[in-house]
Amino acid sequence: MSKKQVDREKSIRRTKTLAEILITVSIIGAGGYIVKGITENSQSVGHSQYYADPEPVTEEEPTEPDLDKVIYETYNTPTKDKFHGDLILVNSNYRYFSGEENLVSINERNEQEGRTLFRAVDTSETDKMLIVDKVYEPMASMIFDFYDATELSNILIYGGYRSTEFQQSLYDADLLETGSEESTRVAKAGYSEHESGLAFDITTFPDYDYQGEGEYSWFTENCYKYGFVIRYPEGKEQITKIQYEPWHFRYVGKPHAYYMTKNNLCLEEYINMVITQYYYQADQHLEFIDDNGNEYEVYFVLSDDASDVTTIPVPTGKKFEISGTNVNGFIVTVYKNEDATAQPVTEPETVTDDSSEPTSEPVEETE
Ligand SMILES: [Zn+2]
Repeated sequence: MSKKQVDREKSIRRTKTLAEILITVSIIGAGGYIVKGITENSQSVGHSQYYADPEPVTEEEPTEPDLDKVIYETYNTPTKDKFHGDLILVNSNYRYFSGEENLVSINERNEQEGRTLFRAVDTSETDKMLIVDKVYEPMASMIFDFYDATELSNILIYGGYRSTEFQQSLYDADLLETGSEESTRVAKAGYSEHESGLAFDITTFPDYDYQGEGEYSWFTENCYKYGFVIRYPEGKEQITKIQYEPWHFRYVGKPHAYYMTKNNLCLEEYINMVITQYYYQADQHLEFIDDNGNEYEVYFVLSDDASDVTTIPVPTGKKFEISGTNVNGFIVTVYKNEDATAQPVTEPETVTDDSSEPTSEPVEETE
């Protein structure tokens, strides 16, 4: 490492230390109010005990530091978190493992917020109709904006989180109804996105027949603005192995929903592309700018399955999020216009020893 780099490194450390103090002071000043928000996987730079060694892990060391070049430092995350996050791929090849959803009841939240425009109907074993906390707000915003655009107020949420047991009962019921050995309409228990709480279905009242056509195509055209994708799109049936389902929305977060939609990629294609082309050490990372001028950088990091902890290169000073892929590692999303220090600090999850969860997953190509 050149002396200039060392100097720069030191100045970064000083900036970070000051930023940490400011964050600490502001947290204490807010009366111990801890912002738990963005996501358990969205963590800003600057955690003390997890912030091991800020050695930059850039591949090459230029003689003259390029100030425009992103500088990376290391961030340690529990390896088992590769099964958790907005970008997990759950399909017939990749079972859902995480079981760490932070669930809320759609109808209870509607009541709390005084929202009567839509409700969730009971199709699950619970009348609460649960969904992952962070998905509620964008889902509600989308339905309200649909109403503003069309004045149609007949949207129902028809399916959110499902327990593995409930998914099994749906599967069994479908076999009974069709008389088949295997269902082509209902995912096997363990392999449905609904078990992650990141997906929901909508339908219309009173006919219960949502096809995403006519005025309802608004959802198909606009859902990416809220961080959702039509998970089983038309024309991708060979890849998703699921029929076109215009009613099934999956939360992946705004940057990824934007990119997938604009490039006509289903989740299998997108995850596979990032894993195989835009891994951290590759010549380039996936970089794009959305319609609002927000700049993103996206790259993949292989999980260290021999260890409880995976060390992930993250950009110094920029807001970033880490999500598991549920395949073989993590995807890092960098918000290039946003500084890390401007973000609320979330505590990293502690590593717990849960022997029921697999410690490694065979690396397979996605289809
Ligand atoms: Zn669904």
